[in-house]
Amino acid sequence: MIPYVSLSGQTNDWQSQLSNLITDPKELLAIAEIPTDSREYHAIEQACADFQLRVPRAFADKIEKGNANDPLLLQVLPSAQELLASPGYSTDPLGEEAANPIPGLIHKYESRVLVTLSGQCAINCRYCFRRHFPYAENRLTRDHLQEITAYVANNTALNEVILSGGDPLSVSNTQIRRFLSELASIQHITRIRFHTRLPVVIPERIDQTLLDTFSNSRQKIIIVVHTNHPNELDERFDRAMAQLTNNRVTLLNQTVLLKNINDNPETLTKLSERLFSAGVMPYYLHLLDKVVGATHFEIPEHDAIGLHRALQTQLPGFLVPKLVREIAGKSSKTWVY
Ligand code: SF4
Repeated sequence: MIPYVSLSGQTNDWQSQLSNLITDPKELLAIAEIPTDSREYHAIEQACADFQLRVPRAFADKIEKGNANDPLLLQVLPSAQELLASPGYSTDPLGEEAANPIPGLIHKYESRVLVTLSGQCAINCRYCFRRHFPYAENRLTRDHLQEITAYVANNTALNEVILSGGDPLSVSNTQIRRFLSELASIQHITRIRFHTRLPVVIPERIDQTLLDTFSNSRQKIIIVVHTNHPNELDERFDRAMAQLTNNRVTLLNQTVLLKNINDNPETLTKLSERLFSAGVMPYYLHLLDKVVGATHFEIPEHDAIGLHRALQTQLPGFLVPKLVREIAGKSSKTWVY
């Protein structure tokens, strides 16, 4: 993998990029060349106290200078709107606390179980439904990992382990290899699925050691990247996806439908086409999960259906993602229509 060279000329591997994120909103605004008055800035700081700002420099470099409505900036910049009252919204919109039998493990669906290997992400997306998730209480110790492995081994109805947010690729290759080797001996587990935004925001994360781990896996590896706008993708992403494909990894994408970011057929059509050209199949188009602090991203269901129908006229069926929502307590995602 060729290292990332930032606009400032700095060359970075993925670990350096991950340890050198933008966390100060003033710095992000300065890079984006957005002036802000002090009242607005006070609200931004308050929103940051609830959910920290974290942005990789390579992602910030893609924000259009001087454009306060840039679709990448809007996904990561804390805003006063996060502080507004939000009736109907909850800190645990998917009822995950009730499905958390062991720290680090969420079991909602019959054949799949979810493990939060990490409590951190490379990027904090302001719409994230886990923005209030109690990661501190779910920190994985060696004992918890053993408990999780035993839980999976004893539950033969499971056939898939999902590693998801915090971003599972934010942990070291050694931790990933260790966990996959524990799972390798469990015969009824046939698939391991990573849900991750890292290959989008720091594509250098797909390094040779990780590729070797994936290609040596007994179980089928699936990576579901999370991307919401075509401007997030570049030739570094293309290279990472090509390397994963060459190592037998299946690639899918999921997108959250977000107001003022991707709520038009042109952007979503371009995104599907762009993903396909990188070897990634569009999988889900999610309605927003109603998490406190994210009301301003919501698209009414009626409008979402209209957008989805427009996509069907623009794209071949295999490039139209399923329009879904998650409802707490249901045994699967729910197709919207
Ligand atoms: S879990 Fe996913 S959506 Fe949530 S902050 Fe992390 S990368 Fe963003």
